[in-house]
Amino acid sequence: MDIAIIGAGAAGCFCAIELKRRLPSASVEVFESGPRPLAKVVITGGGRCNLTNSFEGLSSLKEAYPRGDKLMRRVFSTFNHEDTWRWFESEGVDLVLQEDRCVFPASQDAMQIVNLLTGRMRQLGVVLHTGTKIGRVAPLLDEYDAVVVTTGGSPKAEGFGFLDGLGLEIVPPVPSLFTFNLPGSPVRELMGTVVENATASIAGTKFKASGPLLVTHWGMSGPAILKLSSYAARFLSEASYHATLLVNWLGEKDETEVRKTLESISNGNPQKLVVNARPEEIPSRLWTYLVAKSRIREDSRWAETGQKGLNRLVEAIMNDSYSIQGQSRFKEEFVTCGGVALSNLDSRTLECKNHPGLYFAGEVLDVDAITGGFNLQAAWSMGYRVAVSIAEK
Ligand SMILES: Cc1cc2nc3c(=O)[nH]c(=O)nc-3n(C[C@H](O)[C@H](O)[C@H](O)COP(=O)(O)OP(=O)(O)OC[C@H]3O[C@@H](n4cnc5c(N)ncnc54)[C@H](O)[C@@H]3O)c2cc1C
Repeated sequence: MDIAIIGAGAAGCFCAIELKRRLPSASVEVFESGPRPLAKVVITGGGRCNLTNSFEGLSSLKEAYPRGDKLMRRVFSTFNHEDTWRWFESEGVDLVLQEDRCVFPASQDAMQIVNLLTGRMRQLGVVLHTGTKIGRVAPLLDEYDAVVVTTGGSPKAEGFGFLDGLGLEIVPPVPSLFTFNLPGSPVRELMGTVVENATASIAGTKFKASGPLLVTHWGMSGPAILKLSSYAARFLSEASYHATLLVNWLGEKDETEVRKTLESISNGNPQKLVVNARPEEIPSRLWTYLVAKSRIREDSRWAETGQKGLNRLVEAIMNDSYSIQGQSRFKEEFVTCGGVALSNLDSRTLECKNHPGLYFAGEVLDVDAITGGFNLQAAWSMGYRVAVSIAEK
């Protein structure tokens, strides 16, 4: 059996290893346009490689996979995050689970993962052709018994031109995982401020995400914003990255709870200046900014705030509004929302319905996740699933 894999990224290399283990006599060739395999894995997780997640605390898979959650549920029944953990540990990689549920190699070095995967490919006899860009997939279908496309994401539609002639539906690609530009907003003067649990939402939509939020010199970033950018990736692209951002600096607290918090501070500290007695979750500089935004004087005491002042404070804490005008990349860590539509595939095998022998895995598909190791998990799981599907056939 002759098998071609296009793209030596996370999904392609993982698939190649698992294929060779199941079909040792098959010829497995991997074609990579770049000079080296796994170039992206080298830079994942800031060079530490956040290779999976414990998946704890998710209300549903859709929370982690805004696109492709149903497909991932099926794929995980063959190979999930626990299998990933076992797989890497059985290959001699010790893993550590962080408090934020992200999983890294204990070495904190992505190169350990890269060297492991490339080493296994070599030992098993996978043939790797680097510097070889596949311009068109269609002709390969006649040359090989199976072709696996693992070319990763592309934020531009032209990036899918190599699939022309196959009649595949492509969901227009747009970037996901970005930070928000808030030009002209005075909040930027608070750069470096972190609130551990804020809720960010897009006004007039259902898009909403909670978690740590970081004020930067260009706007807002941090897990809550990256998550929101993922949920709203297509909406924001269609709005040319112009929208109203609403921040609740006390996270999921509703109006009654926020009011109660403020009243209890007020009752406990009537003679203190408002700027000097604050909810503990809100850092002091941000509190001073919110007090000013509520038009409460710096020398005003809690006892003098009055109902109107309190109402304005509640509003400033819960519905702090900003005008998003553009997006920026976060450490160059972005993924593609969109790609090869899942309707093209048999969701059990990841084989193309109209082209038997043609398989897809990884970010090339219309599957993407929030940050936290979920994207690499998708690549390992889909790569594994395709290897099983080809071997079963
Ligand atoms: C800076 C950065 C940091 C990240 N950190 C993390 C993290 O810590 N955890 C996490 O889960 N996710 C992370 N991600 C996302 C994750 O890296 C990707 O989702 C994952 O690598 C996708 O795997 P893949 O195999 O589908 O594609 P890729 O890893 O992108 O591999 C695709 C390969 O195909 C090759 N290729 C493309 N077209 C062709 C062609 N026509 N012919 C031949 N070869 C081709 C490319 O050169 C590339 O090597 C990060 C992404 C970035 C950009």
